[in-house]
Amino acid sequence: MTPHLGPAGQEQRARPGKLRRMSGRVLCVIAHPDDEMHISGTLARQARAGLEVTIAVACNGNMGGLPEASPAERAEVRRREMQAACEVLGVRLEWLGYGDDDFMQHYQEDYQATEKVFRDLVRRVDPHVLLVPALDDYHQHHRAATDLALNASVNASNPALVSAEPPSSMVPYALHLPPMPPTSFTPAVYCDITDTFELKLEALRCHASQHQHLRDQHRTDVFGLVEAAARLHGAACGVEFAEVLGLCQRFNRVAPVQVLAEFFP
Ligand SMILES: [Zn+2]
Repeated sequence: MTPHLGPAGQEQRARPGKLRRMSGRVLCVIAHPDDEMHISGTLARQARAGLEVTIAVACNGNMGGLPEASPAERAEVRRREMQAACEVLGVRLEWLGYGDDDFMQHYQEDYQATEKVFRDLVRRVDPHVLLVPALDDYHQHHRAATDLALNASVNASNPALVSAEPPSSMVPYALHLPPMPPTSFTPAVYCDITDTFELKLEALRCHASQHQHLRDQHRTDVFGLVEAAARLHGAACGVEFAEVLGLCQRFNRVAPVQVLAEFFP
């Protein structure tokens, strides 16, 4: 593998050769198709190392982008895009079945039933590590998905709460994805994604319906943002490209670094 050369031409850092083989389960809960872009390089690395990685998407994206399309057409395009992105990353995909236009109604008006959908997801996957959006993320769907996933992941291991799925084996260690843009976010964990950065871009390209939408609605050049963030985080930890995660400090969520390292190749 080509060594990274610094300005003086000397070898800066040997890249790790093969990924260490790992076992374990990682669940990343997001609100919309394409929200995984913040951590997709890490998810691809985890999948390549042998971890069982699942992305669960709360909403079908039926209100995002494609102004000429109907909500049903939009949801179908987003479903195909998300499926393609997950195939690129090598991860499993689960849909939780909400629309962009009804998720908050379920969250606010029927919390218990909505939490149960998330709880059964956690029971099916039984993750060791749970990745969720930041608690103070700008988007209400992201914040709601985080709240539901964290509560559900405690309830999922409680055998007194009976559902169709058997109780999960543990309360998973939880970490937060950075928001977009990553302002007012303190990274706690840096993940070297130099080896999977191209896969991250390829997965992002799958969400073609969103690129113009993000530019128009959010003043965001998404490829520019993703590369700038990966280079910045990489510079902070001495690699070419990196992603970051934040600590989740709610009860029983923090893992010793030795345990965390078992899930981050
Ligand atoms: Zn989103």
